[in-house]
Amino acid sequence: MHPTSPPAVLAEQLAFKYGSGGGLVRADLVVGTGEMAAVEGPSGAGKSTLLALLGLILRPDAGILRIAGEDTGLLAQGDRDLLRRRSIGIVLQDLGLLPFLNAWENVAAAFGPRLARHRAAARELLGELALDDVADAPVTQLSGGQRRRIAVARAAVKQPALVLADEPTSGLDPRTADSVMNALRTCAARGAAVLLVTHDAAVAGSCGRRYVLDGGVLSDLSASDRAAQNAGEVSPG
Ligand code: ADP
Repeated sequence: MHPTSPPAVLAEQLAFKYGSGGGLVRADLVVGTGEMAAVEGPSGAGKSTLLALLGLILRPDAGILRIAGEDTGLLAQGDRDLLRRRSIGIVLQDLGLLPFLNAWENVAAAFGPRLARHRAAARELLGELALDDVADAPVTQLSGGQRRRIAVARAAVKQPALVLADEPTSGLDPRTADSVMNALRTCAARGAAVLLVTHDAAVAGSCGRRYVLDGGVLSDLSASDRAAQNAGEVSPG
C-alpha cells in the first residue's frame, strides 16, 4: 500500500440486523491495496451479510464503512451505486456468467454492453491469468475452475479498489483451487484489496489477513497471531 493512500476498505463497528434478528453484530476490519484477506466462519455466522455490506448492497444500521477512503455513510444512493460500479468487483458463488457470450466477452461485459471497446483490456487480463487459450471459447464449454477464473477476471478488469469473493474455491480440488487463488492474487498484485469468504483453512492461511466471523461478531485472527508472537518475543521459552 502507498504510505499516503487510504486502505481500500475500512470498517468500524459495522452492524446490520434483519427483521428476523440475525445479521451482523459487529465488524471491524481493514484491507489495504495489494492485500489478501480471508473471512472464515460457520454457516449462519453472517458472512453473506458482511459481503453484502462491503459490496454496498446492504446499508449498515450502524458503524463506519470507507471504501477507497470514501465514507459510504455520507453518500446518496446514486453515489453509492457509482462507487460500487467503479471501485468494487464481486465474485458471487453463482458466478453469473452469461452463457451466450464467450470468455473475453464475459470479462468485457463488466464495463457495460459495448463489449468490443473493452476487448483489449479483457484479453490482456485473461492472458495474465493464463486463460488466453480459452479467451474465444463459449463459457458453457469451460471447466468449473476456468469459469471461476473468468468470473475473477470480470470482477477485476475495471481495476477496482476492492474485489470481494464468496467461497471462490468451494468444491474444487486443491490444484484447481490453487489456480483460482492465483487469479485472486493477480488481482491483488494489480492493485486491488481482495477479501474472500471461505470454509477452507488452507485457503484462509494463504491470505495475509485472516478474520473469523462467529455469531455475527468478526475477530481479527492475524492480530491475535501478532499479539501471541509479540508475547513470545517478550518471554521466550
Ligand atoms: P452466512 O453467510 O455466514 O451463512 P448470513 O449472513 O447468510 O450467514 O446470515 C446471518 C444471519 O442472518 C443468520 O441468522 C440468517 O438466518 C440471517 N439472515 C440472513 N439473510 C436473511 C434475510 N434475508 N432475512 C432474514 N434473516 C436473514
